[in-house]
Amino acid sequence: VVADFFGDTTALLKQDFARVAQLLIQWSDVFAIDQLNHVLSDELKVRNSLRSAIVMAFFDLVGKRLAVPLYKLWGFSLRTDILSSFTIGMDTTDVVLQKAKEAKDYPILKVKLGSENDLALLETIRSVSNARLVVDANCGWTLATLTKTMPRLVEFGVELIEQPFHPSMREEYVELKRSSPLPIFADESVSGLKSLFEIAPLFHGINIKLVKCGGLYDALSMIHAARAMDLKIMIGCMIESSISISAASHLAPKADYVDLDGNILIDNDPFVGVRNHAGKLILPDGPGLGVKDVRLALG
Ligand code: MG
Repeated sequence: VVADFFGDTTALLKQDFARVAQLLIQWSDVFAIDQLNHVLSDELKVRNSLRSAIVMAFFDLVGKRLAVPLYKLWGFSLRTDILSSFTIGMDTTDVVLQKAKEAKDYPILKVKLGSENDLALLETIRSVSNARLVVDANCGWTLATLTKTMPRLVEFGVELIEQPFHPSMREEYVELKRSSPLPIFADESVSGLKSLFEIAPLFHGINIKLVKCGGLYDALSMIHAARAMDLKIMIGCMIESSISISAASHLAPKADYVDLDGNILIDNDPFVGVRNHAGKLILPDGPGLGVKDVRLALG
């Protein structure tokens, strides 16, 4: 995992990895993931994206030792109805029209908004698609803009709004949560487990991403904590290969919304794991993450 995210450059992650490589080689109990996660996080302050990759590798190993896929290891029922949204990035009306046409087989579209052109883009998409819609403003709106556009968003059949304002706009979020006809989800406002208490009064749901929260161990804790706080759960992603998208897919049975399309937005994915059939996720049934290296799979 290399994510240029929260300043995680390749060079910094390599430095972090060099610091912990010896510890990982000598780690004697692969089942003690809680302890490893604690050491990496609280003692060694390893960056979350790298910690996510390491914890993922250990869960993969544990699953392989026990010969079960992760979702079974965690006691989650297999669901065959998991649908992932497909992302349509912010662009000109012509490009968005083209993308919406190409995405015609996907049942849920996640539309990136946050410009003057938002309603025109939604109208364009609706002219060629009856898909379910969620929108992500990536902090691009104010309470005044959203109050004005909300009736149209409802008309377009938008199901939820992700991160409409900057995380610092707490008062606006409190007001919005009180008055919004649509559920409001946190993305940039939520990082790890400890951020949940602060944001629970501001949102109806949270977008959990492995590279953001520090990996599968923390994501599992967040799912349980969020349920206790009556928050809905989305499992999301960055642009990632099939290793981490597959890892996150094992959490999908516990999610209300799934946004795991990062691997189908790239064309150089070195791995195969979870499959995406027009938005329908087929969880891998191999042990651990259930991921294979494409070169080995072909050979
Ligand atoms: Mg987002």
